[in-house]
Formats: sequence, C-alpha cells, structure tokens
Amino acid sequence: MAELDAVVVGAGFSGLYMTHLLRQRGLSAQGFEAGGDVGGTWYWNRYPGARCDSESLSYSYSFLPEIDLAWRWPERYSEQPEILKYIAHVATALDLRRHFRFDTRVTSAAFDGAAGLWTVGTDRDDRVAARFLVMATGCLSIPNWPAIDGVGAFRGDSFHTGLWPHGGVDFTGKRVAAIGTGSTGIQSIPRIAEQADQLFVFQRTANHCVPAQNRPMDARTERAYKAAWAENREKARHSFAGDVAPEFYIDIMDLSDGELETELDRTWAQGGFYTQYPYTDLFTSREANDRVAAYSRRRIRDRVNDPRAAELLCARDHPFGTKRLCADTDYFETFNEDHVHPVDLRATPIRAIDETGVATADRHYDVDAIVYATGFNAMTGALASVDIRGADGAPLREVWAGGPVNYLGLAVAGFPNLFTVTGPGSPSVLCTMVSPIEQHVEWIDRCIAWMGDRGATRIEATGEAQAGWVRHVNEAADATLFPEADSWYVGANIPGKARVFMPYVNGLKVYRDTCDAVADDGYAGFAVS
Ligand code: NAP
Repeated sequence: MAELDAVVVGAGFSGLYMTHLLRQRGLSAQGFEAGGDVGGTWYWNRYPGARCDSESLSYSYSFLPEIDLAWRWPERYSEQPEILKYIAHVATALDLRRHFRFDTRVTSAAFDGAAGLWTVGTDRDDRVAARFLVMATGCLSIPNWPAIDGVGAFRGDSFHTGLWPHGGVDFTGKRVAAIGTGSTGIQSIPRIAEQADQLFVFQRTANHCVPAQNRPMDARTERAYKAAWAENREKARHSFAGDVAPEFYIDIMDLSDGELETELDRTWAQGGFYTQYPYTDLFTSREANDRVAAYSRRRIRDRVNDPRAAELLCARDHPFGTKRLCADTDYFETFNEDHVHPVDLRATPIRAIDETGVATADRHYDVDAIVYATGFNAMTGALASVDIRGADGAPLREVWAGGPVNYLGLAVAGFPNLFTVTGPGSPSVLCTMVSPIEQHVEWIDRCIAWMGDRGATRIEATGEAQAGWVRHVNEAADATLFPEADSWYVGANIPGKARVFMPYVNGLKVYRDTCDAVADDGYAGFAVS
C-alpha cells in the first residue's frame, strides 16, 4: 500500500490550494475527486443561471497575484462556466491535476493509532496510507433529494440542480415543475422560464431575496480594484466576510423611517450582499431586522403584477438574511409571465410524485420534467458520507449524530491528523468562500510544517478545547437572530438532522485572529506528540 504524507479529498478551491501548498513543501500528497475534473461546486452546479453571488473580483485566489491581475471577469457576478474556466486555468498553471485521481469517491478513512497513519479507501478500490487526511469536501456538495413519496417513480426527466447534466438541458416546449425556491431556484427559474412552455414553481417557503444588480464588469471598477490589489486583498483577509465591501457602520435603529428608506434604496441599488454588510444591528435586533424585511417586501410588491402572487413570494417566516440571503436577476418579474405559475405548498402540500407529475393536496400537475432545486445536506453531509473512523474506531458520523463537534472548525477530538476545510464551527459559508478557504488551508499548511520542524507526527484536538469551541460557537450564534430560521445553517432542511447552528457567526477576522493565536501559542488546545 502506498504511504504518503497526505491525502486530500476534493479538487475544488480548497483541495487544489491544499495540494499545491503540500507539494511546495516537498510533501507527497494524493488527491481524490469524485468529479471528472477540478472545480468542486462549480464542476457540479451547471444549472441554468448558476452564478456566484460574491463579486467576481473577490472570488479568486489571492495567492496568485499574476493570474488575478491578468484575469478578466466579464461580469460583476460570474457565471458558473467562467469560474470553472478560472479554476481549470489555475490547475493547469500549477500542474495540479497530476496529483488527483478523478471520478474517484473516497468511501472510507480509518486511523491506525499504532502506525499513526490514515488508511483511505475509494469506490475504485484504491487503498492508500497517509499521515494527514485533509477533507476539502465542500459545504454544499451532497445533494438533497427531498423525502417526497414517489420521487423515483416519475417517468419524465428529473434533474437535481447540484448534479446538472454537462451537456445542458433544453426545456423548449416542455411543461416543467421546479421544486425549491432558495438561492438556486431563484437563479434558475427565470432561465428555465425562458424556454419552458409551462413552468410550475413549487414554493414551500418564500426566501428573502434582493436584486443582484449584476452587470457587465465596469472597466473603471476593475481598474481601481486592481490598482489597489494588494491593499484590497489584505483588507478582505481581515474583514468580517472575506470581502472588500464596507462593513458595519450604520445602526438601523438610529434611522428614522425616511432615512432608512433612503439608505435601503441606496443598498438595494448596489445589490447583493451590500444589502446586509453595512448594518450593525440587522442580525441582533428583531425590530431593526423587521424594518428591513418590510422594505424588502415592498420592493417585491413593486415588481410582481398579481398582488396574490406578490404576497406569496414575500418572505415572512424568518428574519431577513437568517436563511442565506438570495440574490436575483429577473426572478420576481418571471411571475408576471402567463406561463409561470407559483404553487403555494403551505396551502396545498405535495402529496406525492408519480409517473406523470406532481400531486398536491388539491390537484395533479402533469409535467415533462421536474427540477429539484432542493439544496444540500450542508456542512456535515460530505463528511458523514465517508466512513471516517478515529483512533478508537468510532465513526465520525456517530460522533456527530447529535450535531457536529470540533475545535476551530478544523479538527475533531479522537481523530488525529484529520483536518476539515471550511467545516462546521468555521465562518466559511457566511463569507465570500475563497477567503476562508485560503485561511484554513494556510493554517493547516503552517501546522503541518510546524510539526515537521519539531519532528512531531501526531496532532489531535483535546476534548476540553473542543468543548470550549463548540460552546463558544453556539453562544455566538445564540446572540443573533440566525438560529430562529429553519435553515440549512441549522440542518433543518434534512429530516432527522440534529438542530445545531453550524457556521461561526463572529466572522473571518475574529476567527483568523483566534486561529493564529492558537498556532502562535504552540497549537494550544491540541495534543501534539
Ligand atoms: P436551499 O437554500 O436549501 O433551498 C432549497 C429549497 O428547496 C427551499 O426552497 C426548500 O424549501 C425547498 N425544499 C426542500 N425540500 C423540499 C420539499 N420536500 N418539498 C418542497 N420544497 C422543498 O438550497 P439551494 O437553493 O440549492 O441553496 C443552497 C446554498 O447553496 C445557498 O444557500 C448558497 O449558500 C449556495 N448557493 C450559492 C449560490 C451562489 O453564490 N452563486 C447559488 C446557489 C446556491 P424550505 O425553505 O421550505 O425548506
């Protein structure tokens, strides 16, 4: 059996950077990737309208200034093919593909305490041993097929947005059911509606949504950003959300109604996450949040002609932004089209899917295709899908049955030399993703180098440090409105999943400082031998 320094699972932004750093240190690293090529999220999510909700200029590696400065993003928010092109370019430039086995899913990983090695198995019968195991498996990579009776019975075409066919899908002339109105549904529904003959949008919960205000990349903005590239990148590294947008300088509750209206007009015109970055009390004061939510509903009513449809599309059951905020392009106007029909699943729930379509409480919808925009088993799903066994043989999925526990979102007590990138307990999904990914990967790289320098071969989070971190993550979340929503952040989208708020809400800067302090302190909270 091959014996390596490290196995890296996943060839998205995280796994590629991790592999690059390990190889730069002269360590042997084998990567495995279930997809046929690099890209991670951007390899799988090819649905119509798939686009990044983070600004293109911030959504790339900061450790490659030459590529970054030369790269031309065509739009403010990049479409999936553009991002995949960028990742593929980086993989080629750094010659990273040769370290990966593609079309290969890691199925098991067991730590042998005596040898101090992880034995990793795949669905293609690979078996390799490595000192370190880095799970760079993404936060949103295990598609959630909804628990609806008869999902497998439908005789037309079924698509999950997270497993979209590479050749694309032509819905021209088709009757289509779209189930799910989160970020993905909101991006894809307008594009599907352009082709479909009839489109039925099955909405269980209206999500808060703001206009993306996507547009072709503005040449002046790009020039200014690149002229101050190093400062911008440094600012993003030490920001709350890994971005360059100005953050947290306005108390909503200090503003009169008129002032707030003007202020929100301004941020809505900027679009996307600019609508939540400036506000200090948006996620801590229900009253402040309610005022923004009310404004957001007014803006939707302005865009949807049919007042009943407009009310249906207005989010009410959770505070603004406490489910991941959606950003739209033409979503609400789509419901002004005669062939687009919203279906209110609160009033008429889906009873079953059958051979010919979708049966709700009050009627049957005959369709040719069903699009499931029903999300993912987020943050823990990919880790739980691998049979990971720690030093005493305990399976990670059982250790986490009551909710994920770890230290710094990076390491789990009882699982030596295992690192997770952007796992639960880290700010990850609350940020522009590439920034926390770089922070995690660089921290892991530094840790492995530090161990090498002092001849250490084993590092493991202590139970005490882990318990302290879990408590801290929970307390931080409980000080906000976030846990109020039935979101994937708390696992509410997966029946039976423990309800725990998984991301770390105090932001990237605080998190980075904490992780750096732990490292500076000789990896406090870890047992090293
Ligand atoms: P999601 O936010 O989990 O939304 C899933 C949708 O499916 C929800 O509307 C949900 O309704 C519905 N649903 C699930 N099970 C259902 C059932 N049994 N019956 C009826 N409806 C059901 O998933 P997503 O839209 O794929 O987005 C996931 C995350 O991916 C986003 O939050 C974001 O972080 C990321 N994403 C990012 C981008 C980007 O930046 N470009 C784009 C897309 C996605 P309920 O709300 O009632 O559960």
